[in-house]
Amino acid sequence: MAERMQKFVSVGQKWPDKRPAAERAADFHEIHAEFIAEKAREQASRCAQCGVPFCQTHCPLQNNIPDWLRLTAEGRLEEAYLASAATNPMPEICGRICPQDRLCEGACVIEQSHHGAVTIGAVEKYLTDTAWREGWVAPLTPRAERRESVGIVGAGPAGLAAAERLRQRGYKVTVYDRHDRIGGLLVYGIPNFKLEKDVVARRAQRLIDGGVKFELNCNVGDTLSFEALRAKHDAVLIATGVYKAKPLNAPSDAVVPALDFLIAANRVGLGDNVAAFASGKLNAKDRRVVVIGGGDTAMDCVRTAQRQGAASVTCLYRRDRANMPGSQREVAHAEEEGVGFDWLAAPKSVRAGKTPGVKAIRMRLGAPDASGRQSPEEAPGSAYDVSGDLIIAALGFDAEDLSGWGISADRWGAIEVGRSFETNLPGVYAAGDIVRGASLVVWAIKEGRDAADAMHAWMQSGARVAAE
Ligand code: FAD
Ligand code: SF4
Ligand code: SF4
Repeated sequence: MAERMQKFVSVGQKWPDKRPAAERAADFHEIHAEFIAEKAREQASRCAQCGVPFCQTHCPLQNNIPDWLRLTAEGRLEEAYLASAATNPMPEICGRICPQDRLCEGACVIEQSHHGAVTIGAVEKYLTDTAWREGWVAPLTPRAERRESVGIVGAGPAGLAAAERLRQRGYKVTVYDRHDRIGGLLVYGIPNFKLEKDVVARRAQRLIDGGVKFELNCNVGDTLSFEALRAKHDAVLIATGVYKAKPLNAPSDAVVPALDFLIAANRVGLGDNVAAFASGKLNAKDRRVVVIGGGDTAMDCVRTAQRQGAASVTCLYRRDRANMPGSQREVAHAEEEGVGFDWLAAPKSVRAGKTPGVKAIRMRLGAPDASGRQSPEEAPGSAYDVSGDLIIAALGFDAEDLSGWGISADRWGAIEVGRSFETNLPGVYAAGDIVRGASLVVWAIKEGRDAADAMHAWMQSGARVAAE
């Protein structure tokens, strides 16, 4: 094994080729080409096969990364794929959009020793894309049909991961979603240049073929009451995500919420007619765009605006680059694509009218807060103007109010659950962003999967009978 692995000293870190910035900023396709087989093997062979693999402990799914890297290096691709799929129902999606620099790759020991992490995410994506092409992705086949049925509210990654797990165990599974397509933020939040939509559609189709039912355009709490839904099923999972935009402290009708802008862009990419895009309201073409915020949603907005042909794109963020919540890789992509960043800047007010724009103020970083991050504070007398005629607020999301459903939530609206994702209502579970607050796809997958296991245990236990 030794001569096939541990090549990090002689083989440099390499990602799949990234398309030139000017080319990729002119379309919505993914920005990386795929590894060729030889490169995937070579990059996997850089792994040191650590006895205590920190990459694995920092992957929320605890993926068995060293094993599938070794199998890839040995050219045993189907086995490598099976090892990666054993713990992750959507490896090609995580390989594309996990912020690996903050998770598996950030913890890789050879990153820590300054040799550059093994490109784990790119190998994971390569393996599963290859598996789809080669027909190694097995259909979803229930072990044996069961009589119990489960209702899942939300067809995002948490709901889909749970649906797969429960259907595999033979439950009748119905997923309800208020949107017209399956995927949640995988489809309507995350732009194509990070995740092309046919990758999500392929996963959704596998669930449909495996017998999972989808009721789309069904807004639970409106089209169908939560009580009526509960009465139809033996157990229910709430995986509704978080969609209430955090408010800007400079409210104005001239401000567009980030998700409105991204949903419109994704719909247009899917071929829908979007009136607010056609009218120009949610279209950045020839506009001077200012995006307020420093997280991944803000990065998606600036890069989408650039691709729509904005005259200029500026991101205002109140901390500095080192302290922004977004992935550093995404910031680097945005900079290469021509986005301007105005660090240590916060909005005071937003103007519409003949000279539209943002009145901003310079910030400086003060003493660390309880989380250890330095708190931004205004630098007196430093107000200045940023002109812009499309102002987008991307400040994060809170949960919508589900109090009418009788479920306990914290003061931000996040559903309170116990260790097994159970809510205060018997047989009702919750997972994903609606529990964690705005988070990551990989965490939603993990929680959806773990909640499904807990629901199975509950449905097969005496506890369920006692609750009836
Ligand atoms: P969601 O994906 O939000 O799915 C919830 C579903 O529930 C939706 O389809 C919604 O329509 C449905 N729903 C809600 N209420 C109801 C109701 N009452 N009735 C019926 N259906 C309902 N994470 C990453 O790991 N990498 C990234 O690059 C990344 N980029 C992101 C970019 C953007 C713009 C955003 C907003 C988020 C991004 N995230 C990213 C975060 C990630 O998308 C979420 O953490 C993840 O999708 C949460 O999954 P979920 O299943 O909990 O919720
Ligand atoms: Fe890394 Fe995400 Fe894959 Fe885990 S799921 S190995 S964190 S890319
Ligand atoms: Fe390999 Fe890095 Fe994981 Fe060690 S931490 S097993 S070198 S990928």
